[in-house]
Amino acid sequence: MSELPSTARVVIIGGGAVGASSLYHLAKAGWTDCLLLEKNELTAGSTWHAAGNVPTFSSSWSLMNMQRYSAELYRTLGDQVDYPMNYHVTGSIRLGHSKERLQEFKRVVGMGRYQGMELDILSPDEIKSRYPFAETHDLTGALYDPNDGDIDPAQLTQALAKGARDLGAKIVRFCPVTAVRRENDEWVITTPKGEVRCEYVVNAAGYYAREVGKMFGRDVPMMVMSHQYMLFDTIPELEAWSKEAGHKLPLMRDVDSSYYLRQEKYGMNLGPYERNGKAHWITKDDPMPEDFSFQLFPDDLERLEWYLNDAIERVPILGTAGLSKMINGPIPYAPDGNPLIGPMPGVPNAFEACVFTFGICQAGGAGKVLAEWVMNGETEWDMWSCDPRRFTNYTDPQYCIDKGMEIYGHEYAMHFPKHYWPAGRDRKHSAIHDKIAALGAQFKPFNGWERAMWYAQPGDDTSAAATQTWNRNGPWSPRIEAECLAVRDAAGILDLPGFSRYRIKGPGATEWLRGLITGKVPKPGRIGLAYFSDDKGRIVTEMSVMMLDEDFFFLITAATAQWHDLEWLKKHLPKDAAFSIDDVTDAFSCQILTGPNSRAILAEVSNADLAKGWLTHQSCQIAGKWLQLVRVSFAGELGWELHTKVEDTAEVFDAVWAAGQAHGLKPFGMEALDSLRIEKGYRAWKGDLSTDYTILQGGMERFIDWAKPDFKGKAAMEREKQQGVTKRFVTLVVDAGDCDAPYMSTLWHDGKVVGETTSGNWGYRIGKSVALGMLRADLTEPGTEVEVEIFGERRKAIVQEDKPLFDPMNERLRA
Ligand SMILES: Cc1cc2nc3c(=O)[nH]c(=O)nc-3n(C[C@H](O)[C@H](O)[C@H](O)COP(=O)(O)OP(=O)(O)OC[C@H]3O[C@@H](n4cnc5c(N)ncnc54)[C@H](O)[C@@H]3O)c2cc1C
Repeated sequence: MSELPSTARVVIIGGGAVGASSLYHLAKAGWTDCLLLEKNELTAGSTWHAAGNVPTFSSSWSLMNMQRYSAELYRTLGDQVDYPMNYHVTGSIRLGHSKERLQEFKRVVGMGRYQGMELDILSPDEIKSRYPFAETHDLTGALYDPNDGDIDPAQLTQALAKGARDLGAKIVRFCPVTAVRRENDEWVITTPKGEVRCEYVVNAAGYYAREVGKMFGRDVPMMVMSHQYMLFDTIPELEAWSKEAGHKLPLMRDVDSSYYLRQEKYGMNLGPYERNGKAHWITKDDPMPEDFSFQLFPDDLERLEWYLNDAIERVPILGTAGLSKMINGPIPYAPDGNPLIGPMPGVPNAFEACVFTFGICQAGGAGKVLAEWVMNGETEWDMWSCDPRRFTNYTDPQYCIDKGMEIYGHEYAMHFPKHYWPAGRDRKHSAIHDKIAALGAQFKPFNGWERAMWYAQPGDDTSAAATQTWNRNGPWSPRIEAECLAVRDAAGILDLPGFSRYRIKGPGATEWLRGLITGKVPKPGRIGLAYFSDDKGRIVTEMSVMMLDEDFFFLITAATAQWHDLEWLKKHLPKDAAFSIDDVTDAFSCQILTGPNSRAILAEVSNADLAKGWLTHQSCQIAGKWLQLVRVSFAGELGWELHTKVEDTAEVFDAVWAAGQAHGLKPFGMEALDSLRIEKGYRAWKGDLSTDYTILQGGMERFIDWAKPDFKGKAAMEREKQQGVTKRFVTLVVDAGDCDAPYMSTLWHDGKVVGETTSGNWGYRIGKSVALGMLRADLTEPGTEVEVEIFGERRKAIVQEDKPLFDPMNERLRA
């Protein structure tokens, strides 16, 4: 056993598949002075008992990328590190029971092919030819993934560990981390074998991540479920077929019934994600044990009975097999089912690579992503889907339990755009929540804040069943249309609690901001959009800058960006800064009042100077309450944002609402806002705006002030400008059918993939389907015809001029 070194550049806590992969990727990139500490033997956590399935399927672009990378790595890893292992690439068949499921598959096929994978759709007959034992009479088709397979998780971990050790990295087993402390800008890691000083530390402690997090003062948002699979004895028919075919059956996932079924030698492995799942270690009488290494929960066959019967109906030979063994192990869940990979919120030089629900198929890619975070402070692919900062302070233990249970029971569910999942709700309410609820608001949370998505009328079908569609139209569409038209023709009000807001004040603040953003800092009394770039010229974030005075301003950003953007600002704070940055999100609320009648409404209730132009702001009073009135509109109409103190919000709303009745004022929701903004070509964060694109590709050159001597990312942008961008942001009008283009639909031209959409929606003011996206630069001439693949169908799309589709000269905004 290795001696514990006294120093290391990076210490990784936890030796499962993910910790080992992180160590391997760091070492491979040349960071060999890294140390992995494992409290027991490698794989002692979830890894040793995992089934080892390695799917690439995901409806998330970034997760698919990570899984694709893993599958590619695993094919060559054994040879690369000279550690042969069992990795069977069997392919998989994912069964579809409905039209909607096939639509989902077709979308994923499009994404997968874009990533270079030959995914395919199978007809029921084709399913039979690949899987002769399956009943297919009730199926609409299947997705075939030739890259799917299974790997021995322990061998995978050992191979990664060997690779890392061979490169010079160290692993010390039976060495639990018991405490950490910060000393002289270093971490000191305490273990029974002594202390280690390091620059960076990584929490890769799997289902123990919350316990390890506590050592850093960090409450890791997670919970633990029990997950089972059943192993069956040899089935003679399967053995005979397999020997004759010379290969195993592809892995089958009956996603609508919620299980996978895999050939295991000549028997089978059945693994359900049951609706009646069980959480562990959540009550006082069931505390998490100090050590659960290599242990399992008792079998619980009863919970799986329905799934077993369903699987036997699907594959009748399974009914002839004897059950040989059950495995019931702990599996951690973050509140959205994705892992946590990236900076540990609020803690310097500390990272997370934990809470993996699919940690075997994701370990390879996760190791790459984690290593990039540690070494470079950024990643090649935009990994917001896994960024720990996507959760903020609303993720209390009960929330984590409720969401984990919901996700586990719907592990294979389709995520329809108008379905707002019910668990873990009502964490944060706006001051006027009850008032807008009474108006029919249908809510969805944003960073914990419940916001109205659309307003139902009495008699509207607001059931979950009605939302099980990818179609644009449903009970919501006439309402969203009416909301958009009210904004166009009269006025609308949208309650927007939780808009993230930082107050920056003190000498040097303006100069600092000037060096950080790409464009000009607005003058006092004005507000402007600011883009933040990394050193590669990529889009980190977008914020509004509201200048109150020289060296005193607010930065306002998306609700979900609250911790991410704050950390970006703090990371770039000079050591000797004489100004402060404070997160004042919880002190303020916001309402958008917009539409041609909004001025008349405000004239009746406020003492503001309503002649002040677009992009100005002012303090004023409504109902005797102070507010900041900001002349902007994400809806693209005449309008203002009303930034109130939380405690004054209701009175301000009441006054505006009452005055608005004579002017046709209607409430509108986030769905309408998304439609209105897309007609204006306004970008949304982490869809249209992400680190997958540069500022120049994003078409934001008008927000670059080249005359500034320097700003973050300038050198990269100058280089890129000289070389010319390879792809460019475009607005497309799509000849869509029933569905608008979802995120990451592929764009085609002349039979080749030439780009992707970053968002799509119906524009109710223009009566057209609109998509925003990235297109090969030589095709961005207005009028060029391309095709966009929407749920497998290629639809005609025309490149538009680089200006808004609605009100191209912004006359209504400036009115
Ligand atoms: C029954 C079952 C089947 C599964 N099947 C699959 C599958 O087919 N495909 C798939 O992708 N995923 C599967 N999973 C999930 C998979 O097992 C996990 O996602 C994966 O193993 C997580 O790996 P990890 O390295 O993050 O965590 P772990 O393997 O849990 O490793 C964490 C390590 O940290 C160590 N540790 C904890 N605290 C400390 C400390 N204080 N100091 C030092 N070390 C510490 C632990 O001992 C442990 O070894 C399955 C899970 C279950 C339960």
